[in-house]
Amino acid sequence: MAAKQMNIKDYNKQEATLRLSCTCGWEGKAKEAYGELYEAVLDFECPKCDTTLLIVDLIVDAQKYFDHKASKKP
Ligand SMILES: [Zn+2]
Repeated sequence: MAAKQMNIKDYNKQEATLRLSCTCGWEGKAKEAYGELYEAVLDFECPKCDTTLLIVDLIVDAQKYFDHKASKKP
């Protein structure tokens, strides 16, 4: 199964209701999946098997990208 792709604007609109499902049987809200930030994308992985389920392109909105980066700092 190929990972879904969307940009950060669409993701933010749908975040509250967005559901992901995996071939291993896991199903849940995007927020319950593991989000991992790379340079310009946010990857959501299945908590059970680490399959990438969703790739969010952050660079569409540079301010959101930097806000997200800032929020990840300890
Ligand atoms: Zn899985």
